[in-house]
Amino acid sequence: MTNASKYYKIEGGKIERTHRVCPKCGPSYFLADHYDRSSCGKCGYTVFKRKGKKGATTVTGSRRTPRKRSKST
Ligand SMILES: [Zn+2]
Repeated sequence: MTNASKYYKIEGGKIERTHRVCPKCGPSYFLADHYDRSSCGKCGYTVFKRKGKKGATTVTGSRRTPRKRSKST
């Protein structure tokens, strides 16, 4: 069992999430907080934090563009 209380902060009787959750894996999977991004350890979903930086990517998944194998025989 993990202590999930550190992921929440209770303020004025209501629970506030302090961590983002993974939209792919569901609300029980929190994204690991990094200095410039948050990422899911399960599926690799990453959300980049944009702090006024221009040209930064907002969201990337673990999805790769599949290479088309074209056999030219
Ligand atoms: Zn995930």
